[in-house]
Amino acid sequence: MKNSTLENLLSEIGIEYRKEYLEKLERFYFLLTEKNRHMNLTAITEYDEFMRKHFADCLVVLKFQSFSAGQRILDLGTGGGFPGIPLKIFLPETEFVLMDSVRKKLVFLEDVINELALKNISVVHGRAEDLAHSGEYREQFDLVLSRAVSNLSSLSELALPFVKTGGRFISYKGDNGKDELLRADNAISVLGGRVEILNEYVLPGGDRRCLIFINKEKKCPMKYPRKAGTPTREPL
Ligand code: SAH
Repeated sequence: MKNSTLENLLSEIGIEYRKEYLEKLERFYFLLTEKNRHMNLTAITEYDEFMRKHFADCLVVLKFQSFSAGQRILDLGTGGGFPGIPLKIFLPETEFVLMDSVRKKLVFLEDVINELALKNISVVHGRAEDLAHSGEYREQFDLVLSRAVSNLSSLSELALPFVKTGGRFISYKGDNGKDELLRADNAISVLGGRVEILNEYVLPGGDRRCLIFINKEKKCPMKYPRKAGTPTREPL
């Protein structure tokens, strides 16, 4: 057990935890790096780097955003489970949906959910462009989170249609977030969003990242998102 690394990290970024959460994070690290030998889930596998660049990075949002039991949260393009799984561990009462277009990643995440005995969490397979037109998901989430999926302009077209009016989309970005935001201005307003704030932070170890908060002020026009592939090929 190297829980002391995790404890130090979380204290450094100022996030409260229970011992049980650290054990689950550590178990997730082992499950993921094991699976990663056969499936491409992460480029980062070294323990300390993984703790900082995946876990600390995913959890930092707890410092900026308040969460509550009744909320329904979507992790769009969850891949190996980021940020959804680490956040779920810290927010046992909040409902999470993990969405991805690659089925085998979700099969792995179902195993993780069972192994860690996580509750109030499910996976959904499909492309955001299609699922955002289904009544089950369109404008049904209080919060949509997305990390490392695509540039902010196309990502806004994928994410904002899932957010309820009055809800929020939070995009995890690197230190190029400000530039992306400038280029996404038009897309965000067309889709009914308004930028609330760009929160910058420095991860232990020195990497600069940011969280862009976009509030959903109005419903999205029904023609968005456009058909699969178009939001990335022709950003608004
Ligand atoms: N969020 C994770 C994974 C990033 S990789 C992390 O931070 O590590 C991007 C993931 O988004 C991939 O798993 C890919 O399958 C998924 N993805 C990309 N475009 C998508 C779309 N249009 N709909 C659903 N999932 C998508």
